[in-house]
Amino acid sequence: VANENAADRPLWPATAPPAPNCPALSGAHQAEVAIIGAGFTGLSTALHLAERGVAVRVLDADGPGAGASGRNGGQVIAGLRHFPADLIAQYGAPRGMRLYRLGAGAADFTFDLIARLGIDCAANRRGWIQAADTQVGMEQARSRVAAWREFGAPVRMLERDEFRALVGSDAYLGGWIDERCGDINPYAYACGLARAVIAAGGSVHGGSRALAIRRVGGMWRVETQDGSLSAERVLIATNALTDTLWPRLARAFVAVWSFQIATAPLSEAQRAQILAQRAPVSDTRRVLRYFRLDQAGRLIVGGKGTAGKPATRASFALQLAMLARLYPSLADQPIEFHWGGQVAITPGRLPQLFALADGVFASFGCNGKGVAWCTAIGPALADLLTGTAQDDLPLAPEPLRTIPFHRLRRVYVAAANTWLRLRDRFDRGVGS
Ligand SMILES: Cc1cc2nc3c(=O)[nH]c(=O)nc-3n(C[C@H](O)[C@H](O)[C@H](O)COP(=O)(O)OP(=O)(O)OC[C@H]3O[C@@H](n4cnc5c(N)ncnc54)[C@H](O)[C@@H]3O)c2cc1C
Repeated sequence: VANENAADRPLWPATAPPAPNCPALSGAHQAEVAIIGAGFTGLSTALHLAERGVAVRVLDADGPGAGASGRNGGQVIAGLRHFPADLIAQYGAPRGMRLYRLGAGAADFTFDLIARLGIDCAANRRGWIQAADTQVGMEQARSRVAAWREFGAPVRMLERDEFRALVGSDAYLGGWIDERCGDINPYAYACGLARAVIAAGGSVHGGSRALAIRRVGGMWRVETQDGSLSAERVLIATNALTDTLWPRLARAFVAVWSFQIATAPLSEAQRAQILAQRAPVSDTRRVLRYFRLDQAGRLIVGGKGTAGKPATRASFALQLAMLARLYPSLADQPIEFHWGGQVAITPGRLPQLFALADGVFASFGCNGKGVAWCTAIGPALADLLTGTAQDDLPLAPEPLRTIPFHRLRRVYVAAANTWLRLRDRFDRGVGS
């Protein structure tokens, strides 16, 4: 690494095709729908609107994939964190089941969309493994497999020997595999979606932070530094990077950093031992860890950040320790890339859809599992923004709900992490 102190050296843009040209908004424009945020949520919604002939423009403070969508682990995972019974208890039977079905089909939807649009994003569909390092985790895996099987999903348990053969690590007792899933280069995918929005007749503007939203002459006017966009309806899809654009919206979630490192490409001999099937892995811990290979054979390892934004390369101590624990033979493998991103954690860890005002909505909070979900929710958000009956939507738009005492979020996050780590340790029977 040229600069030992450089804290942000993300892998995905370095291995993606060039980003599309997304000029900043300049001058006064009109659209039927204005979308703020060019991550998977904003871009998938824009694509499905543009394909229906709706005039849509997307504004991003930076560019497509600048937020979590271009910085994540690229694991395309079906489903939400919740079991059908949890969702039915929360939302009632029809809506709870609609949500569950949307999640169940989210990975299929994403890979089908990538194929239909011909997006060059290193799509790899060899399943996704959830790994367990405790008996509690193995029991959760068994319940998960049983619940998915009732839906006919292609899932099965991996007991220790098979897990060991597929993953090549002794750090876990086993897990389960979901054949619907896989991985992608998420930045390349976000750029591909942006290109598809433009090809379908929409516009994507980078370098266009929305600074204010005002009601002017029966329309919503979104103002940026050099331009304005008047629209009948607005979707705010700014996720963990939500700023002060809409009063109190940033208080509806807590933003948590997650960091990743990527090694130099592994040799053929190493590749034969490590993640032989090339299925990405996340684990069942409360303080989640995840790892995978990229197309060139780099091993990418991610998990909770130390505290706040990564400041120097030393911020990645937890990820380096995790690499050594997962694969002791790789402890000295050179690290080529290291970066962080922010996840929006919501109460109940459920996605949120808010009706902020007449014609203004906000959708976010995939709680670290948003690649497939944020893509799959696009058509439903397009329905919402074109006035389809709200009863048919998988999520009902609700009034904005904020987290009480949000000012204390850093204290909460630190306390919650300590508490969740302790519970993970307790499950592993580690007394210290
Ligand atoms: C490190 C990390 C690893 C993850 N790993 C996975 C994984 O492997 N699998 C998985 O399924 N999920 C994963 N996730 C979660 C997933 O990345 C997110 O759920 C998803 O990308 C959210 O997409 P989004 O479109 O809602 O928001 P984002 O992608 O965050 O997009 C928000 C956009 O809004 C823009 N913005 C903010 N404010 C303004 C403004 N005022 N005006 C204009 N633009 C603005 C930002 O520039 C940004 O581009 C991970 C997340 C992180 C951070």
